[in-house]
Amino acid sequence: AKTEERNAFRFYTPMMHADTRRRLQLATELRQALARNEFHLVFQPSVELRTGRIVAVEALVRWQHPERGEVLPAEFIPVAEGLGLIRRIDEWVMQATCAQIQAWDMAGVPPIRVAVNISARWFGHPAFVDGVSRTLQSRHLSASRLMLEITESAMLRLGDDIERTMQTLHTLGIEVAIDDFGTGYSSMAYLKLPAVAYLKIDRSFVTGLPGDSNDAAITEAMLAMAKSLGLTTIAEGIETEAQHDFLLRSGCMEGQGYLYSYPLRPEEVQRLLCPNQPP
Ligand code: C2E
Ligand code: CA
Ligand code: CA
Ligand code: CA
Repeated sequence: AKTEERNAFRFYTPMMHADTRRRLQLATELRQALARNEFHLVFQPSVELRTGRIVAVEALVRWQHPERGEVLPAEFIPVAEGLGLIRRIDEWVMQATCAQIQAWDMAGVPPIRVAVNISARWFGHPAFVDGVSRTLQSRHLSASRLMLEITESAMLRLGDDIERTMQTLHTLGIEVAIDDFGTGYSSMAYLKLPAVAYLKIDRSFVTGLPGDSNDAAITEAMLAMAKSLGLTTIAEGIETEAQHDFLLRSGCMEGQGYLYSYPLRPEEVQRLLCPNQPP
């Protein structure tokens, strides 16, 4: 580890861009973060648009850095990918999520769907499906408790193996959402893969609703297509009543966003789902 640390700073010069310097330092610190237990999870609720009822939560990873405070995934996930550390972070997230589901179960929290983001690296790894099912087993959880969020670009990277991987997930009873739909190399073929049961409409389309006529047209088309394929639709990044109303009218089933809830600590999720339980 000592040599690695030295190497990470090999290119340091005072003239170096502050950005690059920060990334190099993050890299060194990320290597230690797993060992030092500096990650934790927050969970953002997903609501049924018609009723406002919470039907799911999405696990989102946070890095509590000893000096910098909370570092968001947008900053450290690309660095982790570059270092080949993303798979270990994803595996940690999967294990921590399953441990949390078990803890909620034991606390009497009514079961809801729990979504986990899967990076392209881990999804494409030969041990992926096995890893997920072993983690579920270790917590005595049935496969239906989890939903995996996988982006189109992660599916693209699998090439011809995608069909077989998805069939295996389907056989195990694990459902998949296509995440950030419409932003990647969209292939309509992914929508009919086995195990795919949900389609998540990316925030970049929701932001422009209802005013932007392009975003509105694309969103309506995605919703219509998902509906005819029997997929459950989830819109992300809903911040206004007007966005909510448009999506509800257009037939979107579920939504996620600051309008309903920020990502929450596990105990806050429990309080929301069990309002009558003493604290
Ligand atoms: P994502 O999967 O699209 O997750 C949604 C992101 O949007 C989350 O940011 C969430 O906090 C944020 N968000 C939710 N509602 C709103 C809203 O109304 N307005 C706005 N402006 N933002 C909203 P977060 O937690 O910072 O995560 C960013 C991305 O990092 C995620 O995008 C996902 O791609 C990745 N990520 C997060 N956690 C994990 C993880 O455990 N594993 C992997 N592989 N990736 C993760
Ligand atoms: Ca996601
Ligand atoms: Ca998403
Ligand atoms: Ca997104």
